Amino acid sequence: MARVLLERVNEAVNRLSSNRPGINLMEVCGTHTMAISSSGIRKAVDPRLRLVSGPGCPVCVTTPKEIDQAIALTQIPNTVVLTFGDMMRVPGSDGSLLEAKARGADVRVVYSPRDGLMMAQREPQKSFVLIGVGFETTAPTVAATVIEARVRRIKNFSVLPLFKLIPPALDFIASSPEINIDGFILPGHVSTVIGTQPYEFLVKRYRIPCCVTGFDTVDILSGILILLHQIESETPGVANEYRRSVRQEGNPQAKGLMRRVFRKVTAEWRGIGRIKNSGLEFKHSFLQFDARWKLPPKTQNPKPKIQKSSCRCGEVMLGLIVPTGCPLFARVCTPEKPFGPCMVSSEGACAAYYKYER
Ligand code: SF4
Repeated sequence: MARVLLERVNEAVNRLSSNRPGINLMEVCGTHTMAISSSGIRKAVDPRLRLVSGPGCPVCVTTPKEIDQAIALTQIPNTVVLTFGDMMRVPGSDGSLLEAKARGADVRVVYSPRDGLMMAQREPQKSFVLIGVGFETTAPTVAATVIEARVRRIKNFSVLPLFKLIPPALDFIASSPEINIDGFILPGHVSTVIGTQPYEFLVKRYRIPCCVTGFDTVDILSGILILLHQIESETPGVANEYRRSVRQEGNPQAKGLMRRVFRKVTAEWRGIGRIKNSGLEFKHSFLQFDARWKLPPKTQNPKPKIQKSSCRCGEVMLGLIVPTGCPLFARVCTPEKPFGPCMVSSEGACAAYYKYER
């Protein structure tokens, strides 16, 4: 199936290329980035089809200031900082959570927010703070955990909310004149929660073809083919190739949990900047779970170890360059000694290129 789809993709690229210089499709999700790299799709398709990575790796878009806030929490006596594993090595202005742990801070890796809540219940003499990183996929599970904490009166559990939302980031990309995207490969996991409806503005406002796809090779090639057909027939729409998981309305229960606990706010994305309504903070009624209240008044902000412009994660996440276009790639910046989050995260574009596409 993959071979047949690949032939059809390349035939479509050939037809389309007679009247355009090339076609740029952006995969928005970090899991897609890894899947495209590991399956070899990027190298197998006609080179006139460029598959560029987007800002869909949650760790990669977390800013140094946010990492600094997480590290500042470790300095509060009797505080345990809980994080998903990928966040441990992401560099802030001066070091990472892993380095803070090496200096003696109590930083623990959890596999779900609820693991953290259970730890808090077991050790009531300590204060537990979960670093809430992720998109619409993670936010509902954190919301559910916070509601459970309230019901069970677990008062020594809180969250540093660093969540980001995908549709506003796509709006930013689609409206940027210097970013030239012909179609979006939309994320499977996020869309399972939010559905396909929140992407319709991309078609109405920008006439950009969109397709939600799954994560295996056949899923991704099918999604690419659907996008190429939309481009060819000049009938952009929001297609759903991942029907076994994604419904138009999404998951109402998960969306309801997010609405109950969080409100939308302007958020800062690493290397990109501030995007309106692209982040989540606690609603007033849940503020007692907001760890920002516990932060020291001045989060230390020492001089960065490397000049800010050296890491080009921002351009990588906007599809302006591929990771090999960064002068530090594989020379100075490697998975063992990462300079930017795109090399740290298992879903980062630089890590994917390092592992599969050098
Ligand atoms: Fe940043 Fe390293 Fe990627 Fe360059 S190779 S953009 S320094 S993460």
